[in-house]
Parts: sequence; C-alpha cells; structure tokens
Amino acid sequence: MLRVENLNVSYGLVNALYDVSFNIEEGECVALLGSKGAGKTTVLNTVSGLLKATSGNIFFNNEDVSGFLPHRRVELNIIQVPEDGRVFPFMTVAENLLAGASGTKKTWESRKASFQHICSIFPVLEARADLHARYLNREERQILAVGRALMAHPRLLMIDEPSTGLSPLIAMEIYTILRVLNEEGVTILLAERNIQQALEIAARGYVLENGRVVLEGSSKELMISKHLKKHIRE
Ligand code: ATP
Repeated sequence: MLRVENLNVSYGLVNALYDVSFNIEEGECVALLGSKGAGKTTVLNTVSGLLKATSGNIFFNNEDVSGFLPHRRVELNIIQVPEDGRVFPFMTVAENLLAGASGTKKTWESRKASFQHICSIFPVLEARADLHARYLNREERQILAVGRALMAHPRLLMIDEPSTGLSPLIAMEIYTILRVLNEEGVTILLAERNIQQALEIAARGYVLENGRVVLEGSSKELMISKHLKKHIRE
C-alpha cells in the first residue's frame, strides 16, 4: 500500500532523513521505532505531505504521490494523528471531530453517522461534545486527536507516539483501540519510542537512528534482537 523509497529530508542545512526506505502492505500495522530526534515525525510529516522531501519517492497503491499536496493525500485517506494530541483548542470537541471529515468528500449525513460511531467508541468525547477542546486534559486530547483522524475513514492511519505522556492505563486503552482498528482492516504506521508497546501490536518494524533505517524485521525478530536497545533510548 505504501512504498517509501530513498527519502531524504532536510530542515534548511540540517539533514533529518538519509535514504529512508520502507513499505507497508495493506492491512498491516508497522512500527517506526526510534529515540527522540531519530526522525520519526519527519517521516510521518513527509508521507502526509506537510514536509517536502529533498529527494526520494512515496508510492501509495502504486501511485507516485510524492508531489501531491497534503489535501490530496487526505483525499486518498492518508491520515495523520499528530504528536502531543494536537487539536483545535478554540473549537468544541464536536467541531474538532467534524473538522476531521472536512478534507474528505463525505456527505453531511455520512459525517453525522461517523460522528455517532466515534462517540460510541469513545464515550468521553460524547460527554464532552460541547466543551472547547482547550479544556480537555492531555489524555482526552489524545483521544480526540485519534477520533478526529478516524472521522476521515483512514486507509492509512499514521499515528505519532500515541502513548507519550499518558498514564499506562490510558496508553493501554489507546493501544487496544489501535489493535481493534487494525483488525478491522485499517493499515497503521505507528511511530513510537516505546518499543514494547509498539511491537505488541505491530507485525513488523523499522528502527530509525539519526535519520537512517538501521534495523528492520518482524516484531518477534526485533523483540529478541540484541541490537535493538543499542539504537533506541526510550
Ligand atoms: P521525537 O520523539 O522528539 O518526536 P522524532 O524521532 O520524531 O523525535 P524528528 O522530530 O523527526 O524526530 O526530528 C528529526 C531531526 O530533525 C532532529 O535532529 C530534530 O532536531 C530535527 N528537526 C525536527 N524538526 C525541525 C525543525 N522544524 N527545524 C530544524 N530541525 C528540526
């Protein structure tokens, strides 16, 4: 479904990614592991089109989307949940959710149906529907960010460090939801520092260090690899 080939990305004179290549099959959950600053967010932002690669290609269902603007990638249902549960603070929870579907060509009826569905998955969002998102706590914001992404019916859901800063219980809840979504057929690219948690739901993983893929393998192979801890400081 997603094929990333030799991606190079820089911030001005600072190179952040060097020849990063990886692929994801339809229906897979793949982990992108790495320490702080390894380049995980840069990969996700480049796949969603927020950042432009210096060179390299991104194929989605065999179509070269490297030159596509972010909104065209959203139309292909490439959806990103940003780091830190970033939501629109001065919009209500309900408005945030509806905004999640705004880049898609869904009818109003279908948006309302999605809204009801998301509220049934995350009852806390229904309970807070009329509250401005700035009043939510960190965990509720993260749940809202995931709910907003689901409103767009992702084919590829890219999620950036969903467990960072959350209590173990809430992190586990978020991971349970990701597992269910994946079982329902949503393809997931999961950027994480937390090796254990990520490899429990991912089938495979790639390890980034200083902008380079230094290790890859099935989750089983990575879990027992003696090299893994060398490349990642959690
Ligand atoms: P984190 O766990 O902190 O989110 P990460 O693995 O997602 O880390 P990135 O945020 O992609 O890593 O950062 C990769 C490299 O690019 C780091 O060296 C970082 O300092 C640098 N970088 C990231 N954003 C910028 C920016 N806006 N300007 C300059 N350098 C940046």
